[in-house]
Amino acid sequence: MPIPFNQPFLTGKETDYIRQAVESGKISGNGEFTQRCQRFLEERYGFRKVLLTTSCTDALEMAAILAEVGPGDEVIVPSFTFVSSALAFVRQGARIVFADSRPDHPNLDLDRVEALVTPRTKVLAVVHYAGVACDMDRAMELARKHNLLVVEDAAQAIDATYKGRPLGGIGHLGCFSFHETKNIICGEGGALIVNDDRFRRRAEIIWEKGTNRAEFFRGEVNKYGWVDMGSSFLPSEIIAAFLYAQLEHLDDIQAKRKALWNIYAEELAPVAHQRGLALPPIPSYACNNAHMFYGLCSSLEERTALIARLKANGVLAVFHYLSLHKSPFFAAKHDGRELPHADRFADTIVRLPMYFALAPGQVREVCEIVQGFYA
Ligand SMILES: *Cc1c(COP(=O)(O)O)cnc(C)c1O
Repeated sequence: MPIPFNQPFLTGKETDYIRQAVESGKISGNGEFTQRCQRFLEERYGFRKVLLTTSCTDALEMAAILAEVGPGDEVIVPSFTFVSSALAFVRQGARIVFADSRPDHPNLDLDRVEALVTPRTKVLAVVHYAGVACDMDRAMELARKHNLLVVEDAAQAIDATYKGRPLGGIGHLGCFSFHETKNIICGEGGALIVNDDRFRRRAEIIWEKGTNRAEFFRGEVNKYGWVDMGSSFLPSEIIAAFLYAQLEHLDDIQAKRKALWNIYAEELAPVAHQRGLALPPIPSYACNNAHMFYGLCSSLEERTALIARLKANGVLAVFHYLSLHKSPFFAAKHDGRELPHADRFADTIVRLPMYFALAPGQVREVCEIVQGFYA
């Protein structure tokens, strides 16, 4: 049986809850299931305010609107990340200043970010790659010193922490994804975490197409209308119903993923020690939310051969990202700085299958192929 890279999964109640939403007579956004999901995240992680969105990309776009970045403003973003981390700010007209990864980890090298700050820098966007925390004390210290806003792209970081504090809840704004490849899924979906109360009211208005409809439904105003910028950032109750069923099983999902992750780590430790496939360290301030199991090959050629070997044996392994500063859209706008670590991770990272329905025996099968490749 072939082993796919990813596979969507049901935890049990998803379709029941969708039916319940339909039968309740309301399937547009900001209904009962949306409220339940938001409350769940607020209570579990102590987030001050959560708004479900149709994607993490949308949550990042809301963050860019709230940060009021525009032409003439600069936003620092790692080059080794998904397009959306940068795109959301580009849409508001800001200039992206791409930063390099750490030598030992794909995360942003915060020791080298300060050199990129100018009087025009408004936002520092940090990405917690594979759910492993960036050094948030360092990020927040830079933000205080230079009057920046910190936006956490926590797309991969549900249930992960920095020094025990939930990721997504530390920067001024945080953004999660519930895309089908993440730990908790609803097809396409996300959430904006509003940690700075200054943004509380405006976030809700932007979310509801620039109207104060949410206040109206809470009975705080007696009519609602167009009061600000915005878009339709809120998901339907059908999506929220699916998501709530997943959130209810968050602990089971996490336990299962961590068990699979640990099998990979144990089986591949000998290979990692000998040569090839290095397993990047998890800093002591971070934790492992088992979002991703990945290793580093020693070259692009080696990675291509490893992925081909896995494929020939029915296993789909993948790589990502192409450094954004070299992308067809951005290359001509980049200031020319070399970002060697981002490029190296782009060439050498290989991601192995990781999903809820993966069986421990399948993980061992994948590991045997990798061991065979390096033998
Ligand atoms: C998945 C991902 C996104 C995009 O999430 P969507 O919900 O698909 O918009 C953004 N940033 C990172 C780091 C991601 O992994």
